[in-house]
Amino acid sequence: MADNFIHEIIEKDLETHKYGDKVCTRFPPEPNGYLHIGHAKSICLNFSTAAKYGGKCNLRYDDTNPVKEDVEYVDSIEEDVRWLGFEWDKRLWASDYFDTMYEAAVELIKKGKAFVCDLTGEEIREYRGTLKEPGKESPCRNRTVEENLRLFEEMKAGKYKDGEKVLRAKIDMASPNINMRDPIIYRIAHTPHHNTGDKWCIYPMYDFAHPIEDAIEGITHSICTLEFEDHRPLYDWVLKEVGWWPAPPQQIEFARLNLTNTVMSKRYLKAMVDDGTVEGWDDPRMPTIAGIRRRGYTPEAVRNFCEAIGVAKANSTVDISLLEHCVREDLKEKVESRNVVFDPVKLIITNYPEGESELCDMDNNAQNPNLGTRQVTFSGELWIDGADFMEEPPKKYFRLFPGNEVRLKGAYFVTCTGFSKNEDGSIKEVYCTYDPDTRSGSGFEGRKVKGTIHFVNAKDAVPITIRQYGYLMTEDEEGNMVKNPDTVRTITAYAETAAAKAAPGERFQFFRHGYFVADSKLHTGEKPVFNEIVPLKSSWK
Ligand code: ATP
Ligand code: MG
Repeated sequence: MADNFIHEIIEKDLETHKYGDKVCTRFPPEPNGYLHIGHAKSICLNFSTAAKYGGKCNLRYDDTNPVKEDVEYVDSIEEDVRWLGFEWDKRLWASDYFDTMYEAAVELIKKGKAFVCDLTGEEIREYRGTLKEPGKESPCRNRTVEENLRLFEEMKAGKYKDGEKVLRAKIDMASPNINMRDPIIYRIAHTPHHNTGDKWCIYPMYDFAHPIEDAIEGITHSICTLEFEDHRPLYDWVLKEVGWWPAPPQQIEFARLNLTNTVMSKRYLKAMVDDGTVEGWDDPRMPTIAGIRRRGYTPEAVRNFCEAIGVAKANSTVDISLLEHCVREDLKEKVESRNVVFDPVKLIITNYPEGESELCDMDNNAQNPNLGTRQVTFSGELWIDGADFMEEPPKKYFRLFPGNEVRLKGAYFVTCTGFSKNEDGSIKEVYCTYDPDTRSGSGFEGRKVKGTIHFVNAKDAVPITIRQYGYLMTEDEEGNMVKNPDTVRTITAYAETAAAKAAPGERFQFFRHGYFVADSKLHTGEKPVFNEIVPLKSSWK
């Protein structure tokens, strides 16, 4: 069953055998930066659409612009697509089609559908007209086919400087669609290309190249974002006028993904890398796939998110908390829990036998018994979260305060008997007694307590570094996206030994705090470093 308008189009085409029973899509990144979460949307859509209809999806590098490409990015693009869980049918380079594109341009000239134009860039802009006024025809428009063939050949041979001449499609200077007013299809650029070297000094424009790339590969449905809607008539025109493909591909536009608190332009992201706002393309705050991977997001969560937001025909902005919600939902039953104490305060159990300790069984995931249990040590000297003790509690505070009894998760009930302070007034130690009859798992059902808190045994607690993140971007009063000043908070917390032993990239719930991942670059057994993936509570409704 079709679950979006693109699938509806495909199912109709399958019914009418427009492309036989073939469905072929492509993901066409320009190798000029790392992929971001917006690209993930496009990747999921293209690859899962092909998979759904038993078709194929290519990975095609759109490298027709010699100035901007950088092969450095190619490895990262492939790693990211695979991390999301997809595998391409073919990996292709648009620049491999330069010969065919050149032939296609010659074909248009021969048919009287393209001409070499001598106007300068500025003149071409002036001649183009506006939305209200038609454009003016170039004085070169009526050159003969022979003259155009000769001039285009000379362009290719390097006889002219950059910008001296261009090849333009001959369509309609009065078209209400400005893209159809004799658009440029080839330009001169004496710039070597990473793939073709010095072979070419003329390069095709995107609107001419893209339909040809699709047609050569036998793409059936060329999915792109909404900005290209006005370019579709030109896409169709190129394929029809070149005329080499009996069942030309069709372009279908959908709304690009926008997220609150997030910029997704590769140019902007690159600037933040270059000016040191972030540590690199894979900084855990970055919306790049490399960044969200290092942040600890899972590919399943990203795919579920892309599925949940659907495929729209109108632009909108999705709340980033929906993405975080998908991450939380995916991790909920998958990862093990560990005890980690933030802002630690010492808890002394005054009636616990001096020098002794014991092992307590702890659920690894209360919602998923398949993840089993582990043992943690317990003794008369523990660390608890600073927020779990209050000298003078407000109403509805059920954790530790003088006279109150709470459950220590997986261990015993304890009752607070007092506390001491440091010189600066902060809490130094909290004192309590424990009730030996209340051991967790012993079947004790004598009385209920309202509060449950967690602990780490002081003797074998391991200090770990935790990095918590804010959004890189925020909105100012006028609704403009601006940089957030403070986006990383680094704290030291105390963890049970099993947490510190994590492998880089391993994820946990830190009980009552949130989801965390051992940083893939910085974490070691000696110096544990964790990134906060998402806090436990969602702000998303
Ligand atoms: P940027 O503006 O960030 O540089 P781009 O569109 O120039 O992005 P490409 O490498 O050309 O980047 O994009 C590859 C594919 O990903 C294109 O088909 C493009 O439409 C799609 N894409 C890019 N950004 C988004 C987005 N935010 N949502 C959905 N698809 C996107
Ligand atoms: Mg692009």
